[in-house]
Amino acid sequence: MPTILVIDDSKLIAHVAKNILTKQGHEVLLAQDGETGLDIARDKKPDLILLDLVLPGMDGYGICERIKNDSTIKDIPIIMLTSKAEHADKVRGLELGASDYVTKPFDEGELRARVNTHLRIKELYESVQEKNRLLLEMANRDGLTGLYNHRYFQETIAKDFKKALRYNESLACVMFDIDHFKKFNDTYGHPVGDIVLKTLSELVKNLMRDSDLAARYGGEEFVLILYHTEANDAYDIAERLRKTVEQHKFQAEDLVLSVNISIGVACYYHPDIQDAKTLIECADKALYRAKEEGRNRVVAFWEIQPANTTENTS
Ligand code: GH3
Ligand code: MG
Ligand code: MG
Repeated sequence: MPTILVIDDSKLIAHVAKNILTKQGHEVLLAQDGETGLDIARDKKPDLILLDLVLPGMDGYGICERIKNDSTIKDIPIIMLTSKAEHADKVRGLELGASDYVTKPFDEGELRARVNTHLRIKELYESVQEKNRLLLEMANRDGLTGLYNHRYFQETIAKDFKKALRYNESLACVMFDIDHFKKFNDTYGHPVGDIVLKTLSELVKNLMRDSDLAARYGGEEFVLILYHTEANDAYDIAERLRKTVEQHKFQAEDLVLSVNISIGVACYYHPDIQDAKTLIECADKALYRAKEEGRNRVVAFWEIQPANTTENTS
């Protein structure tokens, strides 16, 4: 049921408006001055506001301006109620962001029609916004696994690294890759490989904190950004992930499969890591080492390049 806020100091006008709109099935809230109206608008977020121009205290123009400057309520359509027939008043209200006006004493049919028109426009606007939000979300996601995609990951880690630098926060990057994944495809077929990728992504989602980020980096390679996470904790999380995958029975078609992953971990702060690109490269180097050392293991970048033995090139 749409909610309409009527801000008018005339009890008679408010009463008439309420009657007309209630008959239409709308819920009607009343305020007799602008400040009270603003409070109700912020609190109840009505679908539309009928706003008298002449009010005690701040007048309707001032209230209209304040509504339009408040990001939490600025999209609520405003219909001015004016007894003034002057053209200039209406124009001023419209310029301040009101959507329409109704001249008092109002005609029942006209009020109803204008209210319904603006409620419909608001509804359309909201559905377009929701669709845009979904499109944006889809553009950032990988189609197969539902995890974030490579591009979104790169954009996000670049921003987050700068933040970590500025506020001196730790930031970990965990990169992992399925061991001998090609064999799964070759032996059982590509669709089974896809099920393995999806199941693995679900395991990752369940294991992670909501505030962290998981992305499909490429084919069968994944990456996590762990926020405010120190090196040792990042290592523990990676090891827990490795074990979870190792112990999980992957069900695909009528098969039950075992899957292993190799993991590389890098973490800021490390003297060699001063940008996001290097953080990713270091996680990748550690992952490469994990593969070299026999797979199904976690290698930390700081183990292969300890911070205190870094060559001084200056
Ligand atoms: P390693 O342990 O060294 O990582 O060996 P690997 O076989 O996993 O590595 P390799 O890079 O040789 O092969 C990766 C395979 O992943 C090859 C490719 O067909 C498969 N792959 C990549 N993306 C997808 C996908 O979306 N679906 C399926 N089913 N397979 C994929
Ligand atoms: Mg692999
Ligand atoms: Mg690979």
